[in-house]
Amino acid sequence: MIDGGEAVRKLALNIARFTGLAPLAKPFVGGIGAVLMLHRVTATPEKPDGVNRHLNIAPRFLDALVADMKSRGYAFVTLDEAIERIKAGGKDGQFATITADDAYRDNMTEALPVLEKHDAPITIYVAPGLIDGSADLWWDVVEDIVNARERLTLATPKGPVTIDCSTHGKKLHANARLHAYLTLEVREEDQRAVLRDLAHSNGIDLDGLRPSTLMTWDDIRAVAGHRLVTIGAHTVNHRNLKRLDEADARHEIVDVRRQLQAQLGEDPRHLAYPYGYASAVGCREVGFARDAGYASAVTTRHGVLHAEHAGFLHALPRISINGRYQSVAHIRTMLSGVTTPLANAGKMVVTI
Ligand SMILES: [Zn+2]
Repeated sequence: MIDGGEAVRKLALNIARFTGLAPLAKPFVGGIGAVLMLHRVTATPEKPDGVNRHLNIAPRFLDALVADMKSRGYAFVTLDEAIERIKAGGKDGQFATITADDAYRDNMTEALPVLEKHDAPITIYVAPGLIDGSADLWWDVVEDIVNARERLTLATPKGPVTIDCSTHGKKLHANARLHAYLTLEVREEDQRAVLRDLAHSNGIDLDGLRPSTLMTWDDIRAVAGHRLVTIGAHTVNHRNLKRLDEADARHEIVDVRRQLQAQLGEDPRHLAYPYGYASAVGCREVGFARDAGYASAVTTRHGVLHAEHAGFLHALPRISINGRYQSVAHIRTMLSGVTTPLANAGKMVVTI
């Protein structure tokens, strides 16, 4: 899950401004390829007007996008092949590899048929805690809690706080406030307990709300055997690694390999950092991923790939294909590379 917030909104404006410039800029800023990032792909989202709707795209948009990229010469390759192509400096032409975070069931039921049509491989990053139910899709849970009540009482160390959720506008504000509280004020390790306590103390049955939006282990085993699917690691519990001490952060990155190996019989070679933005992954975490023996690791930093990324295979940027930009023209602009320095203070080769 990722929401870059302000940076994403600014990028949206810049895309509109720079769309016409993209073809001209390509020789100067264009990369050798791109890692595309998906979350949900469904024509029938459960909450089409919800605060997390940007995490979803429609299957027909994915279809149109892959068709457009193929018509412009992009080769859709596995992540393993993408890594080889980066190491080779991109001499075999423009390439793209598709990734999806969190293992949403619609990746299997709605995205995969589209990818089969185009023979386009996908890497799905799995966090075992989310699949076992020992970790929550907390952003989804927050939305459900806020939707369920007109008023919430949040127990904080400074005493109870009342949060008004009585109108659409108040609910947006309540979501933003709870996001900030859970990601900035509460310890990462306590986030789940705090969220469960918030639900319980406000009379909300979380197990009743538990979404069936993620794949089960049986689903994951089934897709893992598909010729187009690679399973990658998304850490054990989907925590913000930068907020953990070294032992816990290393555990999240290392133990997920053992757990996926136990469930699937195969050692994952690739990692996606949870959240993936600057306040969730830095030099320390990149070092941990390298130490753990992964062939690659991806962030959610915005950018196309350059030959120089051969030296930064554990800090690869991606192009987010999300509900905010369901326009092939906008993605073309992003793939041209023109938005890469715009979103990264002038940097062309984005790492962390
Ligand atoms: Zn995620």
